[in-house]
Amino acid sequence: MQLDRLLQSQGFGSRKECRQLVRNGWLTINGETVEDPFREVEAAGFTYEVDGEPWEYRETAYLMLNKPAGYECSREPMHNKSVFALLPDPLVGRGVQPVGRLDSDTTGLLLLSDNGQFIHALTSPKRKVAKTYRVTLKHAADAAFTQKLLDGVWLNDESEATRAAGAELADPTTLLLTITEGKYHQVKRMVAAAGNRVEALCRVALGGLALPADLAEGEWRWLSEAELAQLQ
Ligand code: URA
Repeated sequence: MQLDRLLQSQGFGSRKECRQLVRNGWLTINGETVEDPFREVEAAGFTYEVDGEPWEYRETAYLMLNKPAGYECSREPMHNKSVFALLPDPLVGRGVQPVGRLDSDTTGLLLLSDNGQFIHALTSPKRKVAKTYRVTLKHAADAAFTQKLLDGVWLNDESEATRAAGAELADPTTLLLTITEGKYHQVKRMVAAAGNRVEALCRVALGGLALPADLAEGEWRWLSEAELAQLQ
């Protein structure tokens, strides 16, 4: 693939901007500065540095972010910062989108990708992908409370009850709740409908993929092949 095309596909800007970037000497391959934007390179396995930052060619972007509180899952946030501010510019430039949204005060596992089919498959209500949240409750709860969530609660004027796929208390104020839908404010509304209140919410797993303990809040990383296979 021609270098200017390759850089464009990786989110470094328009073809024209990518050519300029190369001509300006910002690109190094194996430590050597390359100033010819039309040089042909093998895309697969291609590694390079732009402005001192190491990059690896990826045909499609699949990543996970440990979302901190105070960030909105939108490119144009209304009241807070955007999760896109936590990602390097080329990832934003290549158009990654969140796989579903978390409220701005929710923390934890957020997947992002530039593969629309992948996003659709994980968010489509038909697929019933499991999402697990660690919920800090305002009031101490008991087995009757988790049973209510498992039996189903009524959210506003919906015609059928919404049931948790899993509800377990780790301690009286810490609930592990698994849901398979993605309704607006679903966890907060389910907990309220069952007579309690969410003090803090963290998504700890999605589609069987757990938030890794070593991914600090605000950090992102690529999904591994094994993680990707698990989700597909
Ligand atoms: N349910 C909520 O209420 N908020 C979230 O961010 C996710 C699920």
